[in-house]
Amino acid sequence: MVEHWQKTNHTSAAKALAGKVRAFVDEKIIPNESKLALRDQGSMGLQMELTQSARLAGLCNLFYPLSHSGKIASLEDYLIVAEQEGRTEFSQDIFGSHTALDAHMLLQFGNETIRRHFLEPMVNGTAIPCYGMTEPGHSGSIPSLISTTASLSKGKWRIDGRKWFISNADRATFMTVLARTGSADMPIHHALSMIVVPTDIAGFKIERQLTLMGHLYGQGEVSLTDIQVPEEYLLGICGNGIELMNKRLSLGRVLRAMNWIGLAQRCLDLMGARIHSARGKFSRLADKQLVRQHMVNAYHAIASARELIRVAARSVDAQAPDDIAINIAKLAASRALCTTSDSAIQLYGAEGLSDLTPLFGISRIARSSRILDGNDESLISSVGRRLINFYQRETVYSFD
Ligand SMILES: Cc1cc2nc3c(=O)[nH]c(=O)nc-3n(C[C@H](O)[C@H](O)[C@H](O)COP(=O)(O)OP(=O)(O)OC[C@H]3O[C@@H](n4cnc5c(N)ncnc54)[C@H](O)[C@@H]3O)c2cc1C
Repeated sequence: MVEHWQKTNHTSAAKALAGKVRAFVDEKIIPNESKLALRDQGSMGLQMELTQSARLAGLCNLFYPLSHSGKIASLEDYLIVAEQEGRTEFSQDIFGSHTALDAHMLLQFGNETIRRHFLEPMVNGTAIPCYGMTEPGHSGSIPSLISTTASLSKGKWRIDGRKWFISNADRATFMTVLARTGSADMPIHHALSMIVVPTDIAGFKIERQLTLMGHLYGQGEVSLTDIQVPEEYLLGICGNGIELMNKRLSLGRVLRAMNWIGLAQRCLDLMGARIHSARGKFSRLADKQLVRQHMVNAYHAIASARELIRVAARSVDAQAPDDIAINIAKLAASRALCTTSDSAIQLYGAEGLSDLTPLFGISRIARSSRILDGNDESLISSVGRRLINFYQRETVYSFD
């Protein structure tokens, strides 16, 4: 069978990597999904084995910067690979793709010390990042409410605060903390900064693990008490935390959207398998119009989201991230995943709700996609405002 990416204009290197990643996911990860889902000691061991195997196969950190072991420079080119990585919820940890965002942030905004202490160990597979933005007691969508503080004294940052829903908090070796470095009356665009904090430092404590929809995904609540790190652990310049946060969100949203499309495609493929299974044939699912509608809705959602992601990725590649394109791509990918996972569960009946298929796990990811990295409402509100403002100045919107 010719895969869809073979017919695209992607580079031959990206096409070859997409094929290898697909084979690895099909042969090594998907058969182990039910074991990996347990998140116990055994599953952690298995995950480490698979990571090692992916590393030996040259499939880890593919979207890291080229200077730091990456193999693909263009985000648009990475789309066909990221989709293949995304076909299982477990591959981000195994291929290290969830850390590519931090690698780019540390390279672009980190000084020599940060690169040596945090970026290079990530490349070698000995460091794992996490990101500390969201706080209990505040709305995560409003960064101006951030109350974690950082103050500089005698060459050290002293940091105090609390963060929650931090992904990978339980295994990260460092956290990039968004903290308030300016006074309360300072405009928010100059009041926050990002500082890198090793997780083995005194004052860093995981208070508890948090479940999402009854399942442990590795999110934790962390307290930061009188933490002291060297002045050089500041990312970028003091006061540019909001700017860095926006950069991080732009790239992060596109990367996640790419993975979600892969997962949505998996749901579509599973729907096809169900329809043509012995059971599906017995119920003559292929002949039912409402089943056909599930297929059409899924196709429509995936194909349109993929093209929207392509446009968003192109804007990032051109170093002119288009917020409208990026936010719409994230919304479309999340909706595609919600539509396809729900349709697939429906076609599988009770099995779809059980652990006999990966669908219930996928539907949890789908549901969280509407909140993570910018909830639906704030993205819709932001895009709507930008479009309306555009028509204050112009009469025709150009989709170029
Ligand atoms: C799987 C997962 C992983 C996460 N990982 C991390 C991580 O690694 N690091 C980290 O710092 N955080 C992480 N988070 C937290 C995430 O960033 C926040 O959940 C997100 O920013 C939303 O913040 P909140 O939960 O406080 O919701 P709130 O900001 O309180 O929003 C709650 C609801 O209010 C409504 N709302 C909010 N704003 C608007 C608006 N402008 N217009 C209309 N309605 C609105 C929406 O319905 C929204 O869903 C993670 C979350 C999830 C689900």
